[in-house]
Amino acid sequence: MRIILAQAPAGRPEPPVFPLGLAFLAGQLKGHDIRAIDLALHRDPAAALRRAVGSFDPDVIGFSLRNIDDSSYPITYSYFLPFGEVVRSLEDWNGTVVVGGTGFSIYPRQVMQRAPRVDYGIVGEAELEFPGLMERIEKETVPRRAGGTLLKAGHVDLSRLDSPAYEVFDIEPYRGKRYSVGVQSRRGCPMGCTYCTYGYLGGRAFRRRPIESVVDDIATLERLGLASFAFVDSLFNEPRDYFHALLEAIAESGTELRWSCWIDESVTPADLERMVEAGARKVDFSPDAITDRGSSLLGKRAGAGRLFPIVRQARKAGLFVGVNFFNNNPGEGLGALLRKLLFTLRARLLLGWRNTVVNIGTIRVYDHSKLAEEMRDQGLVEQDCDFFEPVFYSSPGPADWLYRALSRLRRLRHGGG
Ligand code: SF4
Repeated sequence: MRIILAQAPAGRPEPPVFPLGLAFLAGQLKGHDIRAIDLALHRDPAAALRRAVGSFDPDVIGFSLRNIDDSSYPITYSYFLPFGEVVRSLEDWNGTVVVGGTGFSIYPRQVMQRAPRVDYGIVGEAELEFPGLMERIEKETVPRRAGGTLLKAGHVDLSRLDSPAYEVFDIEPYRGKRYSVGVQSRRGCPMGCTYCTYGYLGGRAFRRRPIESVVDDIATLERLGLASFAFVDSLFNEPRDYFHALLEAIAESGTELRWSCWIDESVTPADLERMVEAGARKVDFSPDAITDRGSSLLGKRAGAGRLFPIVRQARKAGLFVGVNFFNNNPGEGLGALLRKLLFTLRARLLLGWRNTVVNIGTIRVYDHSKLAEEMRDQGLVEQDCDFFEPVFYSSPGPADWLYRALSRLRRLRHGGG
């Protein structure tokens, strides 16, 4: 079969993000002729796809829809709309359109209803289901044009997956942007933070890839001439035995690549030193709340008190640090927002203005999160609210007003109006 794997367009200029999910999929698609295209890199994605279809004449186009929107508050940008436009542009083409990806897997029904040209939608991890579908289409046991058929895929056994085929995409556009190419060492997360959909998508336990496969991926990226990559894992410092073994294997591999990852406040100063030795240069924390009550209401395991000391340790180890908070999250209002702003000033002034960055967002609630359930139970939204149109956990009041004013100032400063 001739298959185009297409990353959904962003619809606006954005920093490149390598389509790792499609690279994993390409790695499992043996015996097919594959072309891959990242439509997010194209100013006119429909025209780019038309050209690819014209020159390659595929039987199937498989889209990955990573996110349905950018989760920004108070102005939210839809990624579904440009995706819908590209899919609509295939009305006159007679091949099979398949869609999957994390954004799709949260909202399969809503996407299929709004994009009727899609023949098959794969909910969940598509690495085994998609090749199986290709075989069934080839053997004509299922129709090529299926008019919106949903297929449910379970979690795959990561130890049996072949490596992602990074080389299926032209790596050049990602080379200039640090940490734009991902490496995945585990899926799923048992932490259960109330707003998060990772547990729904990847399972409520860590599923680990064999360490040698992860080290092989890093070697592949080095061969492709990259200088850095990002671990896209939920929580890099857990489970601890795997974390330590992986650090040791990366350090032993002698790679020159620099990398980033997401960690939490339970990481130790010794861990941070080992990470730097293995090539880490950037870490992100997601404490989200600044009070113990706020942390506990979000289901975060770490209390707020450990944050500043561990950020200081990370800076001391030489790491660039990102810290992410929410505003107006459960149990926190104006007082907490002022504390988050003070934290920002203190961290940046004392630990390095350019190397310590704090981001304060507002919770975009997605379906299948605990918070979505809580909001339905508490009557904060209608019982049948599906959260496809953006819903934020925020209420009018001083914390929201101040946040909006600061957001507006930031947009004006960056020329966003
Ligand atoms: S926010 Fe992070 S730590 Fe919490 S459940 Fe999601 S992936 Fe896990």
